[in-house]
Amino acid sequence: MIPFNKPPLTGNEQQYVLQAMQSNKISGDGFFGKKCQAWFEENLGCLKTLLTPSCTAALEMAAILIDIQPGDEVIMPSYTFVSTANAFVFRGAKIVFVDIRPDTMNIDETLIEAAITTKTKAIVPVHYAGVGCEMDAIMDIANRHGLFVVEDAAQGMMSTYKGKPLGTIGHLGAFSFHETKNYTSGGEGGLLIINDERFLQRAEVIREKGTNRSQFFRGQVDKYTWVDVGSSYLPSELQAAFLWGQLEKADEINQNRLATWNAYHDAFKPLQNAGLVDLPKMPENCQHNAHMYYLKLKDLDQRTAFIEHLKANDIMAVFHYIPLHSAPAGQKFGEFSGTDQYTTTESERLVRLPVFFGMGEQEIKKVIHTVLSAND
Ligand SMILES: *Cc1c(COP(=O)(O)O)cnc(C)c1O
Repeated sequence: MIPFNKPPLTGNEQQYVLQAMQSNKISGDGFFGKKCQAWFEENLGCLKTLLTPSCTAALEMAAILIDIQPGDEVIMPSYTFVSTANAFVFRGAKIVFVDIRPDTMNIDETLIEAAITTKTKAIVPVHYAGVGCEMDAIMDIANRHGLFVVEDAAQGMMSTYKGKPLGTIGHLGAFSFHETKNYTSGGEGGLLIINDERFLQRAEVIREKGTNRSQFFRGQVDKYTWVDVGSSYLPSELQAAFLWGQLEKADEINQNRLATWNAYHDAFKPLQNAGLVDLPKMPENCQHNAHMYYLKLKDLDQRTAFIEHLKANDIMAVFHYIPLHSAPAGQKFGEFSGTDQYTTTESERLVRLPVFFGMGEQEIKKVIHTVLSAND
């Protein structure tokens, strides 16, 4: 069976986790935690990064940092993971869903302005498949209306928009190191990216259960105490050690995934030319990270048959999000702005193929052959 995903492993994780275990400092912000954050700050060229237990946790921190209050509205696509919405719903926000663009499955930036009301506080673009949203337009709208932008870059590590790393363009950004993403910190993990210095001090406090513990350890205050709201948003040193084994090989992982993605893309072009499927489209100003390879078939029935065909040939292909506005909690906490022209129909056509670090040549060939034969 060719699985849909395998968690990436470079071989160095074990050694670093063992080293962390033997260091007498395993609770977080230790040797590896600091090393990882310094790596991100250098490679992203951003103000500050903080490792978190998940991308969900980083988004929750972002919602606290931009001071979401009950009744505030937050604009995002409906075609996304539940955490994009939940982090803001947790603070009492109402979610306003905007339709996606069929080419990238990202929020349609031309529809955002119509969804803004006096209660709107933030826009949360989701970089689907590690392909950047139209960030210049989104930042322009946000600046003109005085809104915050929190980038859900869960899938976007190593991707850029006009040369800028995803996650570093909005006021705040979030990565995921869940095992299904391109890089993992041992199954679960995330990163909060801070691009606005107004958030620097408070982010540390929120992450340390509402205390000024970080300042205390730097000798900036002489005792640490409860100063704000907060939670337990500091991951273990073991997670950071695991992640370090992957950051060291970040380029190798990226190049390996891109090679698989490109092999698929070249092989499936004839299917697109024959009008049988739609392939992912890359905006010219976006460099992606091969987080995902998807095909879009004619409709839901054809997709179901296609997934069955692959399964019969021992290949796991999977569909993706059920649009949030059609889910029970989405109806309770959110509302669709305008019409759902593409969100539902495009999500029903989309199927994701196996892509993982270290995928073998034979496996790639088998997927290609099986996909091509599905259309015979
Ligand atoms: C994976 C993912 C998340 C959640 O990440 P966790 O690290 O599992 O919390 C949020 N948003 C998007 C778009 C994702 O793909």
